[in-house]
Amino acid sequence: MSDTNQNGIVGRGNREGARLFRQWFDGLGRAADEDRGGAYVFVMGSLGELLGTFDLPLVFPEINSLQTAVRHQAHDYLNEAEDIGYSPDICGYVKADVATQRRAGALPMGRIPKPSLAVLTNACNTYIKWAEIWERMYGMPAYVIDVPASRQDGQTVVRGAPGFERDRRYVAAQLRELIGVLEDVTKKKFDIDRLRESMQHANTMSRGWKRVIELNRSRPSLFNALSDGTIYLGVANGFRGSEEGARYFDQLVEEMEYKRQNGIGTLVDEKFRLVFVGVPCYPIFRRFTELFSEHGGTFVNSTYLWFASGGTNLGFEYDLKDPIESLAEGVLVSVSDAMDSMFFQTRALASIVDDFAVDGVVYHPIKSCRTTSTGLADTRRALMEMRDIPSLFIESDMMDRRVVSEAQLKNRIDAFFEGLQSRRHQAAAGKV
Ligand code: SF4
Repeated sequence: MSDTNQNGIVGRGNREGARLFRQWFDGLGRAADEDRGGAYVFVMGSLGELLGTFDLPLVFPEINSLQTAVRHQAHDYLNEAEDIGYSPDICGYVKADVATQRRAGALPMGRIPKPSLAVLTNACNTYIKWAEIWERMYGMPAYVIDVPASRQDGQTVVRGAPGFERDRRYVAAQLRELIGVLEDVTKKKFDIDRLRESMQHANTMSRGWKRVIELNRSRPSLFNALSDGTIYLGVANGFRGSEEGARYFDQLVEEMEYKRQNGIGTLVDEKFRLVFVGVPCYPIFRRFTELFSEHGGTFVNSTYLWFASGGTNLGFEYDLKDPIESLAEGVLVSVSDAMDSMFFQTRALASIVDDFAVDGVVYHPIKSCRTTSTGLADTRRALMEMRDIPSLFIESDMMDRRVVSEAQLKNRIDAFFEGLQSRRHQAAAGKV
């Protein structure tokens, strides 16, 4: 892939994403230095649109923790938390954050402020126990939004479904209560026009994110869902509801449209199109992707693009005439969809296999995230019953390098590609 294209459009999303990430962290560092508190939030239901209107810096502890692994420093943080009694089994993100708090917010990429409050959903039960740790440390409020989820596969939360209006009103009542908490914490009056403006930017971002993912159906694929996709996710979360975020996604759509029109793919000579299920292996992030790309394997989509954007991939757009009611509807639809990506993913994966012309599915359960990993073996079997598609099941972790064996992963991945290659030969010979 050349970067000497018209106006430097190719690769702009990655460059701008890195710049915005630095800008975000500089802002967090300033807030920490000035002793201004932040809003601690999570990727599944951050409510960035609302919190931004109270001028609260957004802190995503999940993103901060994964950055310690990408920068090969997670083990120091994990050891520190385990030394004071946190079990090796629990979510590595929590332990890295506990150590971060004990270091007065110091992280490899800068310093984060203390929490003024935490806002979370029930999308992961760890969120709730994690916020309780901050409550004990800082005595700040933690507000949990209880989002009704899909009751069973095939009965997902959709507009017009039985009970939808009741669920939406339930979320709206909680949002009104949260606004009161935010007014108390910040001593600022809620400004509905600022919320409208922020929701308009969020609409642009959702529309763009959905389109970017759709465009990756192209052959060759335009971006790697695992490596490039994680950069886009950082902006989707950190800049949700902001003008910069909206501009970024408008430009990202422009980049992907340009690449599609000009037949420009990723750096890989694409031989096999893959979909990834789970959380990336951050301790060897770049190498992990290479283990696939060395065989011509590219990730065209993933469940991560789905749940780690809090369901924004749906392209849900708010109705600005009635902001609170519409925000409630967006939270309900998007967060329950993010939960579906973990608990009821099989039908959607089957559609991705068809729509993105996928050659293989890679399942990556990890030790420290039970929420995304439990049941993956069963959902794999269910998908195999629905589609004749090869799959790979590899286990490691998103934080803990003690359970990441690159040699073992490589053996399994190499064998998987041998299987894919042999299947292709057999198909060419008319034997499949
Ligand atoms: S258990 Fe999984 S989903 Fe929950 S906070 Fe940890 S990494 Fe995120």
